[in-house]
Amino acid sequence: MPHYTPPLRDMKFVLHELIQVVDHLKTLPRHADIDAPTIDAVIEEGGKFAAEVLAPLNQSGDEQGCVLDKSTHEVTAPAGFKEAYAKFVEGGWPALSADAQFGGQALPIVLNQCLYEMLNSANQAWTMYPGLSHGAYECLHAHGTDQQKAIYLPKLTSGQWTGTMCLTEAHCGTDLGMLRTKAEPQIDGSYKLSGQKIFISAGEHDLAENIVHLVLARLPDAPQGSKGISLFVVPKYLPKADGSVGARNPIFCTGLEHKMGIHGNATAQLNLDGATGWLVGEPNKGLPAMFVMMNAARLGVGNQSLGLTEVAYQNAVVYAKDRIQMRSLSGPKAPDKPADPIIVHPDVRKMLLTARAYAEGGRALSIHIATLIDTYLATDDADVRKDAEDEVALLTPIVKAFLTDNAWLATSHCMQVYGGHGYIREWGMEQFVRDARINMIYEGTNTVQSLDLLGRKVLGDNGAKLKKFGKKIQTFIEDEGVVEAMQEFVNPLADLGDKVTKLTTELGMKAFGNADEVGAAAVDYLRVIGHLAFAYFWARMAKIALLKQDSGDPFYAAKLATARFYFAKLLPETAALIRSARAGLAPLMAMDEALF
Ligand SMILES: Cc1cc2nc3c(=O)[nH]c(=O)nc-3n(C[C@H](O)[C@H](O)[C@H](O)COP(=O)(O)OP(=O)(O)OC[C@H]3O[C@@H](n4cnc5c(N)ncnc54)[C@H](O)[C@@H]3O)c2cc1C
Repeated sequence: MPHYTPPLRDMKFVLHELIQVVDHLKTLPRHADIDAPTIDAVIEEGGKFAAEVLAPLNQSGDEQGCVLDKSTHEVTAPAGFKEAYAKFVEGGWPALSADAQFGGQALPIVLNQCLYEMLNSANQAWTMYPGLSHGAYECLHAHGTDQQKAIYLPKLTSGQWTGTMCLTEAHCGTDLGMLRTKAEPQIDGSYKLSGQKIFISAGEHDLAENIVHLVLARLPDAPQGSKGISLFVVPKYLPKADGSVGARNPIFCTGLEHKMGIHGNATAQLNLDGATGWLVGEPNKGLPAMFVMMNAARLGVGNQSLGLTEVAYQNAVVYAKDRIQMRSLSGPKAPDKPADPIIVHPDVRKMLLTARAYAEGGRALSIHIATLIDTYLATDDADVRKDAEDEVALLTPIVKAFLTDNAWLATSHCMQVYGGHGYIREWGMEQFVRDARINMIYEGTNTVQSLDLLGRKVLGDNGAKLKKFGKKIQTFIEDEGVVEAMQEFVNPLADLGDKVTKLTTELGMKAFGNADEVGAAAVDYLRVIGHLAFAYFWARMAKIALLKQDSGDPFYAAKLATARFYFAKLLPETAALIRSARAGLAPLMAMDEALF
């Protein structure tokens, strides 16, 4: 069975040395009392829960999967999931960064980020149950009426109830404008919803006493397309006035998907048969309201992949030190053994270092974004809020797509390190690969993320958000460019920054001529910007490691070696990506459709 050790040392490095999270949070009145020991205690306890309670259930959960009883429409999660969830609730974890008004602990989001990375490493399928609840909480917190907040938020905060997001229907996933689920207004102000949703994660289960579905549907007079979609809260059991659960609402699970990975999470087909729901936000403004949940979920999906990258790396390293095969090309490294451990072979090291650089770069970027979210939620300064919101908006599609693409590569490399033993079930590596694959698809496919980045976030505002982020990078380059030891990091970062500026201008011009040019370049472009962000954070981490390399702590030597690996072996990918992005639309459209 795979093992998992929470990466507390690296998390503390990012939190305290890279981001200087305490100084930062203390500028926000809401978090003025936070201190490093509190932060460390929370992540240490969270890590224990992940490693001791969740990780042991990961492989068995994958093997057992979820079971639907078609006669009752009830779903049973794999053995141990329900008990683990009860412990999670008992520990107060769902309340960690929730609003105190609704029973939350009001701790910074950045702690939730660290907690969820570890939960995902330990057991992505299980973690989706509370993960989706957090998104539902945020959506109702932002758009619910006072009454809706009073009914649902305390229950979601305590974890007594869980949440879902119900968007997808058989004929529409990306193009939600085509959705057909109907909502008929009732005299008492509620609505009756009818239709079918598919692929609903955590859509039915036995972990909690109630499930709060957030459902997109159409009102009778709704305009066509995405401008005619409204958002409804549709609980599995109708809440009574005293907060307890009442009658069963007719939103029933009619089937569970058989799928490649995340077997422990129920992917439900849901039938709404006149189910009672209540409008959340304004009529026909459901998509923007749901975007609160979708944005949270997009960052959450990036975090799933960060967790998988880390756990796959940890296991592959242990295996590579233990497994002996062949001799090093330059002569035996373990002459006392019949062969050398495979970690002596350069390509095995390349695979391990790729996973490590993606995990540590992804952690730095994700913790940075979580700190920005804390900033915009708590600052009194409108300019600071706007800047933080803009940066999160720009970086969200990168976290979703770049981190999930990286995890697919990284988990696959880590499986490769095991050779054939990675492909068979016993070692647990193939599960990481299978679980990682969905992250590139749901919450808007990675193609859709790239269109969001290039089309909306960059070209849509004439590059304003990108320029602001670029300015931060430029300031770092100017400050550090004069330091001899930093040249190896600053020069490639500066070079990539210049190339991104040129590429963005060129793509903007092409898009004026033909909007399809955006679609032709967007996926390559997102990966280039992902590397720009990673190079910036890796250069900043290298700076700290250089300053501390004589401290005697091997952590900094490892950080520096990984930074050098990233710049030498991974960043050069951008040259090919830029060439491909510039090649544009013509090679994609030249072939007649009939010839495919
Ligand atoms: C395990 C699992 C869990 C899920 N959980 C949930 C959930 O909890 N709630 C929920 O509502 N949904 C959920 N989904 C649905 C998921 O979000 C959708 O599958 C996803 O958004 C893609 O939609 P689709 O499958 O209909 O693919 P389609 O929209 O049909 O897309 C097919 C392909 O076409 C591409 N494409 C589409 N439009 C464009 C375009 N304009 N430009 C370029 N390429 C395009 C896509 O990128 C994709 O490669 C889940 C799915 C799975 C498999």
